[in-house]
Amino acid sequence: MQKIIQVRYPIIPKPAQLTASDGEFTLTTSTCIWVNPEALGVAKHLQKLLPLPLSVKETDNDAVPAGDILLTTMGGNSLLGVEGYQLTISPSAVVIRANQPAGLFYGVQTLRQLISIGKGSIHAVDIVDWPRFPWRGIMLDVGRHLFPIVFIKRLIDVMAFHKLNVFHWHLTEDQGWRIEIKKYPKLTKIGSRRSATPIPADREKLDGKAYKGYYTQAQIKEIVAYARDRFITVVPEIEMPGHSVAALASYPELGCTGGPYKVTNYWGIEKNVYCAGNEQAFSFLQNVLDEVLSLFPSKFIHIGGDECPKGSWEQCPKCQDAIHRLDLENEHGLQSYFIRRIESYLNAKGRRLIGWDEILEGGLAPNASVMSWRGVEGGLQAVKEGHDVVMTPTSHCYFDYYQSENVGSEPPAIGGFLPLETVYAFEPVPSQCTQEEARHLLGAQGNLWTEYVPTPEQAGYMLFPRATALAEVVWSAAEGRNFTDFQQRLQSFLPQLKKMGINYRK
Ligand SMILES: [Zn+2]
Repeated sequence: MQKIIQVRYPIIPKPAQLTASDGEFTLTTSTCIWVNPEALGVAKHLQKLLPLPLSVKETDNDAVPAGDILLTTMGGNSLLGVEGYQLTISPSAVVIRANQPAGLFYGVQTLRQLISIGKGSIHAVDIVDWPRFPWRGIMLDVGRHLFPIVFIKRLIDVMAFHKLNVFHWHLTEDQGWRIEIKKYPKLTKIGSRRSATPIPADREKLDGKAYKGYYTQAQIKEIVAYARDRFITVVPEIEMPGHSVAALASYPELGCTGGPYKVTNYWGIEKNVYCAGNEQAFSFLQNVLDEVLSLFPSKFIHIGGDECPKGSWEQCPKCQDAIHRLDLENEHGLQSYFIRRIESYLNAKGRRLIGWDEILEGGLAPNASVMSWRGVEGGLQAVKEGHDVVMTPTSHCYFDYYQSENVGSEPPAIGGFLPLETVYAFEPVPSQCTQEEARHLLGAQGNLWTEYVPTPEQAGYMLFPRATALAEVVWSAAEGRNFTDFQQRLQSFLPQLKKMGINYRK
């Protein structure tokens, strides 16, 4: 039976419940897609994916004529939650039921896989499926290298195919500011350009070529809408107080020394950061965030918070004065004050702050959520303090790491070693968590930092199929996971990625 399921229903991520049946449903040009009004948007999406041009018709009941497809948000059940679905394929009809359009959308993704494998005929089956975690993410760094809009849309399409639902867009870096902010035009005029980039094969040497680019607000709106239509939330990241040299080069008065600063050419951690004792820095960031909030409806706003060396604050009279005036213990206290202040600004606007696990240092802001990257310990500490957490440890989720121990056989990467099997083995809930604490674990995310990823082809190579393994980690139940079984299903999944224009690692 297991073999039949692998061959007939090689679905990724693996569904919660699957019961194989006999017979096949065959798509014909006279097959009609029936929907209730709420299901219309998802049906139109399905229509575009099918190999045949089928018509979509509205109905107010849930009967399905023989030979047809029904998508409906009527008659779902509580087990399915917001994102779950039930897909029933019999020789006479295909029915997808869900409580919400998001669930129907995921049912359509499963159907799409089965159609692509069956070439028009689909084996009968009954699937009841829902995700394990609500946060199933991929992060793309566009600060180090920029990616064209057409690639970002393709990535969003492929994420949706994997039932991933958060696109974390890392938009600002020392090496480039990539988001148009109308109030501060120098951020893109100056901050989006660097004079050179390290050569991948010899990272101490620069290529001497200017590198520039950014996304206009119109392009950002286009991406956010494109993602929303595919049930993906775009979470923007605006880095602070560190990783901010591109902003300081544009507006030097925001730094501790007043500059001048240059957009960084080399990779690594910069010592210059926003001055935490300077009111101008806070009003600048609040004005930037105002424009960010108008572009991104996401509840969560990522503010970075990682890798902020404290040297410039130690030397800065304004920062030292702030530590004294606010009765803070030290520079870690100052970072904590900085993040708390930004958090109350975001909270007052109805949003939630999320940051890398360094925001724990000096005390976590009261409502903050944490992205745990330096292992899972930071995340564990945060859930024990009652905060929400997304797990993204370097050990399992850093897709900028090498995929082979024989690094000479791979394109240059930042370091590390993260093979597919290790990603697949990731368990986002540490065993030390109580059941109550585990409820604060929102999910997990794969991160693609792009120091050594200059092109879409390279991004595809680093992301897939590692992101495919992660999709199963965050969607499917832990107890049903098996790497050998996954690899077998992957064989029919990968050609579908190729069809979608993704250059994955073979
Ligand atoms: Zn300062």
